[in-house]
Amino acid sequence: MQTPGQRPEGLRKIEIVTMRCACAAATPRESLKTMPTENAKRTVLIIGAGPGGLTLANALQRKGVACMVFERNLKTLQHDIGAGFSLATGRIWLEQIFGPEKKHRLSKIMTPVNEFRVVEDEETNGESEGKLLGRYNLGSIPKIKKQLNGPLLAGTTRSCLMNVLNDNLHPGTLRLGWECRNITENEDGTLTVRFDVTTTAGGEKETRTEVGAVVVGADGIHSKVRELMFGPRTLGTYNQAVWLLLKRNIPPEVLDFSKEENQACWMLATKKGSGIGIVGYPTSPTDFEMCYAYKLSNEQKNNSTQNGNGRTWQSARYGSAASREEALERMKKCPGVLGKVARLVESPQELIHISLGDASLSLDVDAWHMGRVVIIGDAPHAPTPLAGQGCNSAIGDACVLAKHLHRAFELIDQEQVETNSDKLISEAFLGYEKERKKYGEKVCKQGRHLIRSRIANLAMPQTANSPRNFFEVSARKWLTYLMETLINTFPDTVAHGTIKEIKAGCGKVDFDGGDNDQPHDRHGPRLWTMLGGKGFASRSGN
Ligand SMILES: Cc1cc2nc3c(=O)[nH]c(=O)nc-3n(C[C@H](O)[C@H](O)[C@H](O)COP(=O)(O)OP(=O)(O)OC[C@H]3O[C@@H](n4cnc5c(N)ncnc54)[C@H](O)[C@@H]3O)c2cc1C
Repeated sequence: MQTPGQRPEGLRKIEIVTMRCACAAATPRESLKTMPTENAKRTVLIIGAGPGGLTLANALQRKGVACMVFERNLKTLQHDIGAGFSLATGRIWLEQIFGPEKKHRLSKIMTPVNEFRVVEDEETNGESEGKLLGRYNLGSIPKIKKQLNGPLLAGTTRSCLMNVLNDNLHPGTLRLGWECRNITENEDGTLTVRFDVTTTAGGEKETRTEVGAVVVGADGIHSKVRELMFGPRTLGTYNQAVWLLLKRNIPPEVLDFSKEENQACWMLATKKGSGIGIVGYPTSPTDFEMCYAYKLSNEQKNNSTQNGNGRTWQSARYGSAASREEALERMKKCPGVLGKVARLVESPQELIHISLGDASLSLDVDAWHMGRVVIIGDAPHAPTPLAGQGCNSAIGDACVLAKHLHRAFELIDQEQVETNSDKLISEAFLGYEKERKKYGEKVCKQGRHLIRSRIANLAMPQTANSPRNFFEVSARKWLTYLMETLINTFPDTVAHGTIKEIKAGCGKVDFDGGDNDQPHDRHGPRLWTMLGGKGFASRSGN
């Protein structure tokens, strides 16, 4: 039996762990013997159609590697499902996959976000734009513009991104309503995945299996694949939660996000002792996301996850209709664009409740793979949503894994014998981990620091850590002023730091002419997380 964190030694262990999990009734090895086909020996089975899973499928197909994606949620591509993302490194990776010919498909679903505006909290009913405390216009620095070859951040709506990624796949790649339950190893090294399949909402579930050479768990923060490999995980929770609004289809006559003046991320400098934080930015062209973070009481905190499933704290009291209405009414009183968007909301039901959990307490496994199973994105390293990094790093993981898997399959084909395939696949996973593990874990830890840091929240207010006293209110004024002055006075220095840190999360995969990695700093984001990544984390958080 293995404990989480123990390095797996071979394929056999997957089966041991699988059988050990009470929730996964292991399929007897004998019954699976007939399944594998020659195609299966070169097919990657991807569990989960989030940004990580669908990016991986695109990258693999671009490289000519066969794959299938299995998603348990039937509605995942519906326009009203999911929130929004701000993409930084994610945009750069995705543009490589789509290439110059198809890049426009991405820009169609993204809104540039080049600056951050910290606005004084003046309760208003639409008359005031709010006093600007700080304006961090990083995206207009010529060096940044040139080097990033695009906006600093690109806002996008999750469902728009999911659809663009899915539309770019070979027909039939994605199967909706397939929930992974179990993974078993076969005699010839391939893996069989058992699914509960629902084809219509509320319909009967049936069991089906698929065989592949490799299984990738891209199944999010509550990853089943990870659980099968390493057992239950502990998630981090905080004494804050978020009401989230994604207002879609805003008419351009109300707010036109194609205009530069509306392409920003607004952060409300909330009042002393308010215990809230409000932030908003445009996502896909007519959509706008707003987060209302608020403090939970200590009593609520004590009720929080004791054993790490990250869900039980979401009690009726805090997810109640009254709390939802209160949040919406408060959002409507915001100055400028924030209030304007909130006042378009017809019903409080448009707000959804989000956990600020993360995976920082479960970064304890030595490897992200076991035998021929590997995990990417939130499954190994989910940061808190406010860090604005999880989607970016899931996309990066997917691109790097695709590169290494492609190499492994090429080598297996060259050798024309399967004897070495386990070793080559294992090397591919090690190559992926070498490039991404340290980085992904750092992003996750920095997100944790962001949520706790009072100073970070003074300069870039977005959490519920509002100023506690007059001293902190004045410190916020000074910090925002200093940040703005620093950016305007030393644009080249700021550009250098920002670009370096964005590049730490990027690499280069030449999809047309083999792999072409650029050496880059893999020590993780610092200034970038602070300024550009919609989050703020200091070096001490590393
Ligand atoms: C409100 C909010 C705002 C955010 N904003 C940003 C941002 O601005 N920038 C950023 O970079 N990140 C952001 N994030 C984080 C980001 O959403 C995640 O980090 C990212 O979605 C992780 O991608 P993933 O593909 O690893 O997992 P997920 O997006 O969680 O996708 C996993 C998929 O797997 C499916 N699945 C789960 N279990 C199974 C199973 N057993 N079988 C089959 N399918 C399964 C799920 O249904 C899901 O579709 C935000 C998160 C939230 C909640």
